Amino acid sequence: QSHGGFGFGPGSLGSGGKIPLGLKRKGLRIVVTGGAGFVGSHLVDRLIARGDSVIVVDNFFTGRKENVMHHFGNPNFELIRHDVVEPLLLEVDQIYHLACPASPVHYKFNPVKTIISNVVGTLNMLGLAKRVGARFLLTSTSEVYGDPLQHPQVETYWGNVNPIGVRSCYDEGKRTAETLTMDYHRGAAVEVRIARIFNTYGPRMCIDDGRVVSNFVAQALRKEPLTVYGDGKQTRSFQYVSDLVEGLMRLMGGEHVGPFNLGNPGEFTMLELAQVVQETIDPNARIEFRPNTEDDPHKRKPDITRAKELLGWEPKVSLRKGLPLMVSDFRQRIFGDHKEGGA
Ligand code: NAD
Ligand code: UDP
Ligand code: UDP
Repeated sequence: QSHGGFGFGPGSLGSGGKIPLGLKRKGLRIVVTGGAGFVGSHLVDRLIARGDSVIVVDNFFTGRKENVMHHFGNPNFELIRHDVVEPLLLEVDQIYHLACPASPVHYKFNPVKTIISNVVGTLNMLGLAKRVGARFLLTSTSEVYGDPLQHPQVETYWGNVNPIGVRSCYDEGKRTAETLTMDYHRGAAVEVRIARIFNTYGPRMCIDDGRVVSNFVAQALRKEPLTVYGDGKQTRSFQYVSDLVEGLMRLMGGEHVGPFNLGNPGEFTMLELAQVVQETIDPNARIEFRPNTEDDPHKRKPDITRAKELLGWEPKVSLRKGLPLMVSDFRQRIFGDHKEGGA
């Protein structure tokens, strides 16, 4: 096994450590689990454009073939229907591990499955990383901070998570995934990276996944009222997907384990977000108040000092710039000339 290089497990060339000359590759071999999903598919686009060979592993729970279909026929692209809770043998240099339902509606749908995906799924991908000497990146979440008592959230904050609530399957699942990642790093010398992602939006989000940005945009386009949960004074900080992908790639390519907050510090109440959506799509869109969900975090905003200093990264796309890019994709998919995907 050579570190960060080529693995020689079952199915590989197995030539005793030396790569035959003609078989040297230009790009890296990269697995993206959850690569048919929202964030994953944008990441795949960038990796393919860079010249890497990408294998997408996805069980299509929330992902869609349409998100990656434009790569079909490219010899540098492969798509495998596979659930990460089952073991997987591949030979790769890097693993971006995204597979996990991400919206509250989806992760609460089958909470036990959410936990298993996070725990067993992450364990399998770490086992794979260990066997072939690949570098492993976990997409964790701002949700590890729970309903935070520190604001903005710094990576050194340990969080305020309810262990027995309806969000725990996701929060504790990701916290355990982080723990496993660090234990493989310490115990098996696996090269790991941890990203804590804050609310991200953009083209290719599931239209009806229940997240606030996708809900508001779809509602405004369909001339339905924007559903604000609770009093609408809770806050989130919204990051455009291209900024996140840039951050993930810098993190993977860099020398620091993390965890790193990757998010846009621009903080909005849900009422302010509704206003931006009104300005962008329909000034006459009505607002309707609904009861809030259980354990909803009151505020959330990343401190990104660490990513700025160590990765040279910061977001470039403000909410007012990014939202219109998502709106044109949603418009197409909702009113449909049946074009999927989007930039
Ligand atoms: P998404 O639902 O679009 O993507 C998740 C992908 O994982 C989907 O394609 C889904 O089919 C696949 N998947 C789920 N369970 C799987 C399993 N057991 N085996 C194989 N594939 C499986 O969501 P997203 O927003 O693209 O999120 C990607 C990752 O980023 C997730 O790990 C999520 O927790 C994390 N994250 C996202 C956000 C955000 O705001 N988008 C915030 C924090 C963290
Ligand atoms: N694993 C995998 N692909 C691999 C190597 C391991 O899916 O290429 C899985 C393996 O089935 C196990 C997990 O990863 O369930 C952890 O593997 P590890 O070798 O760390 O632990 P062990 O198998 O020794 O318990
Ligand atoms: N929310 C809302 N209306 C909706 C969907 C969500 O007001 O139609 C609120 C939700 O109560 C939460 C915030 O928006 O306070 C963000 O919710 P989301 O599900 O997008 O992500 P979370 O950050 O909670 O995982």
